[in-house]
Amino acid sequence: MDDSIFTKIINGEIPSHKIYEDDTVFAFLDIHPINTGHTLVVPKQQVEFLWDLDDATYQSVMAAVKKIAEHMRQVLNVEYVGQQVIGVDVPHAHVHLIPFNTIDEYHNVPDVSADPNHGALGAIAKKLQM
Ligand code: 5GP
Repeated sequence: MDDSIFTKIINGEIPSHKIYEDDTVFAFLDIHPINTGHTLVVPKQQVEFLWDLDDATYQSVMAAVKKIAEHMRQVLNVEYVGQQVIGVDVPHAHVHLIPFNTIDEYHNVPDVSADPNHGALGAIAKKLQM
């Protein structure tokens, strides 16, 4: 199996705005955020679907999701953190965490053709780093 783009990010071959890492999980900002702070929580083990993980690894990913979401609410001072599992673009399991206050923010559709704003992403990553 070829390394996914997320495995390359985890291995440091592709740069990312990292906010969290432990033995099983790596979390970094989405380059095309739905809203400020939009984060991808990724198991280091490359599998396509979350349910391909063994139970212990799945639970470690979800424990990290909870920790990061609570941290986001405090640091970004938002009311909500939406959680999505999509996986149509990148076949490496991941959970989207999307901080928001209004439902319009949550339903925002990012312009994926635009160049990522690395200045803004870097500033948010600095605030969110755990
Ligand atoms: P999904 O697979 O859940 O449908 O979407 C994959 C997500 O990964 C998208 O929101 C997309 O913006 C994000 N993404 C794709 N490639 C990269 C990348 O190279 N770096 C980062 N940080 N995010 C990416």
